[in-house]
Amino acid sequence: MEKRLIIAIDGYSSCGKSTFAKSIAKMLNYIYIDSGAMYRTVTLYCMRRGFIGNGSLNLSGVLRELTDINIDFIFNPDIDEYETFLNSENVEQEIRNIEVSSNVSRISQIAEVRTRLVELQRKIGIQKGIVMDGRDIGTVVFPDADIKIFMTASVDIRAKRRHDELKSKGTIIDFEEIKRNIVARDIADENRDISPLRRAADAILLDNSRMSVDQQMTWVKEIIQKKRDGC
Ligand code: C5P
Repeated sequence: MEKRLIIAIDGYSSCGKSTFAKSIAKMLNYIYIDSGAMYRTVTLYCMRRGFIGNGSLNLSGVLRELTDINIDFIFNPDIDEYETFLNSENVEQEIRNIEVSSNVSRISQIAEVRTRLVELQRKIGIQKGIVMDGRDIGTVVFPDADIKIFMTASVDIRAKRRHDELKSKGTIIDFEEIKRNIVARDIADENRDISPLRRAADAILLDNSRMSVDQQMTWVKEIIQKKRDGC
């Protein structure tokens, strides 16, 4: 039987990490985990509880209720994808909105939040045969991952992709606002004290600014094959 791999995909915001990771998981029949969705779900919970918003953060509130936040990924056969649930409520759409995007970097800086989510991510990874995307997957969550990819693309292309994605879901947000949010998240993610966004020394760089998903899949198939051949 073929060895089941752990594939870690990290990179900047809105690089198309999840589209790429999902396609790899489908191709290999692996589980796909969107670790960003976990940080977004914790953020949504904190926003609803009034722990974060309008530039303020109630840290003790977040810490007190952290263990009340249960996150699940449940398969929806109608769309052939997993969706994110917060305490049994489907929040897949809501966690992608711009308010959550604006608050998530503050929540993802909290050490206790990271410890809890990393623990969950490692538990899911125990069974192997997994593709996980995020910011610290190859550096912290699975430092021994079989394949590590670090993704980047130009800011304008990333903003356009996010803009088009939101538009296709019926949400119209000013392009410049999306771009500002992406740049702000890059800066926050790269400069935080705990588990900052970094390219792991053994991660392969993928700049997909001018690549289609099909081209990225051709690229990654070769990498997976080489890994399996022991190269
Ligand atoms: O991937 P996505 O853009 O949905 O991630 C949202 C935010 O969650 C990131 O901007 C980052 O602050 C945080 N995150 C993280 N570590 C991860 C995944 C996401 O800090 N592994």
